[in-house]
Amino acid sequence: MKILVINAGSSSLKYQLIDMEGEKVLAKGLCERIGIDGHLKHSPLVEGKPVFDENISLPTHSEAIAAVIDKLTSKEYGVVASMSEINAVGHRVVHGGEEFSSSVLIDDEVIKGIENCTPFAPLHNPANITGIEACKKVMGGVPQVAVFDTAFHQTIPGKAFMYALPYEFYENDKIRRYGFHGTSHRYVSSRAAEMLGKPIESLKLVSCHMGNGSSVCAIDGGKSVDTSMGFTPLVGLPMGTRCGQMDMGAVQFLMNKYGYSIDEMLNILNKKSGVLGISGVSSDFRDLDEAASKGNERAALALDVFHYWVAKTVGGYVAAMNGVDAIIFTAGIGENSKGTRAAICEYFGYLGCTVDPEQNSKRGEDLFISTPDSKVKLLVIPTNEELVIARDTKDIVTAK
Ligand code: ADP
Repeated sequence: MKILVINAGSSSLKYQLIDMEGEKVLAKGLCERIGIDGHLKHSPLVEGKPVFDENISLPTHSEAIAAVIDKLTSKEYGVVASMSEINAVGHRVVHGGEEFSSSVLIDDEVIKGIENCTPFAPLHNPANITGIEACKKVMGGVPQVAVFDTAFHQTIPGKAFMYALPYEFYENDKIRRYGFHGTSHRYVSSRAAEMLGKPIESLKLVSCHMGNGSSVCAIDGGKSVDTSMGFTPLVGLPMGTRCGQMDMGAVQFLMNKYGYSIDEMLNILNKKSGVLGISGVSSDFRDLDEAASKGNERAALALDVFHYWVAKTVGGYVAAMNGVDAIIFTAGIGENSKGTRAAICEYFGYLGCTVDPEQNSKRGEDLFISTPDSKVKLLVIPTNEELVIARDTKDIVTAK
């Protein structure tokens, strides 16, 4: 079975074609500047096939999907003989609200449900629907599955998802913690159970997804029981450019003092804050590491703030679960930055946790970075959200 995994944004579309026999990625690529002019980078991962990397006209997502199918099936760049070899499509959908607690086969009802969640993710959900509609148009009756970023967190109990606001805001408006990166936290936690050789039902895990956006998740018995992002991805840890936890009083103070509209203020909190805001250098941890090593104090402070927030969030979740068996690092920073991992783990001495520096300098694979006698295991697991989407799609389409 071959599955096309789609992650549609407002002007971009990422894809992977995965052969579920051996879970091998046959090709991957990215359409950009959809609706502006258009660019497609298509990389076949089959020997002897060249990469296609050119500007092409992409007025809408339908043309983008058609261009992707064209490349996937072409003589020169293709990896399958015809579209009929693509058995199903799995879509990443950002927000499933309280309606979707697991992945689902897409029909008109499901599209309506995703539309109902649009007010919670006004930029992302419409783009995801556009991707679904485009596949329907170009690929006809090929079954499509939606996999939600929020679904894994629907097991979070009321005590952790409720905001202490007047209750009617939850009852009428569904204002609560939803959490994101659910597909990633789900993947790394199940992989951690395999690495630890124990059933996930018996494990208490904390997963740290640290990329451009970052979140920590407490996973008890395989279920998400708390996570640091909230109603939106703005809160929790300070991130590349997002502020994380913030006092609304300070927001009001700044709006009054500088006359910012709410949109201007949110733009600052989303795009100009986080480690970029503190350092004034960059949102990229490679730049911050370099600047800090050359004595830039604000870059060093930005890194300290980030390490501190990850550590204290993990500590909170250890308390919430009354223990922890393993702490997992994943995503761009978690997978690549040994310095960030080491700095965060310095806070975990009280857990009887020790880092093995040699293991911690390895990269690009599933790793134990704790010493063999460490009471709590420390793991690095490269995330693979596309694979989870493909697996869910296969399971749902096969069960149909
Ligand atoms: P996204 O959230 O967009 O999926 P990623 O998970 O790909 O992001 O993470 C991207 C971030 O990972 C970069 O902004 C950078 O800060 C960080 N990163 C990537 N490689 C390294 C590295 N070698 N050292 C430190 N940080 C890195």
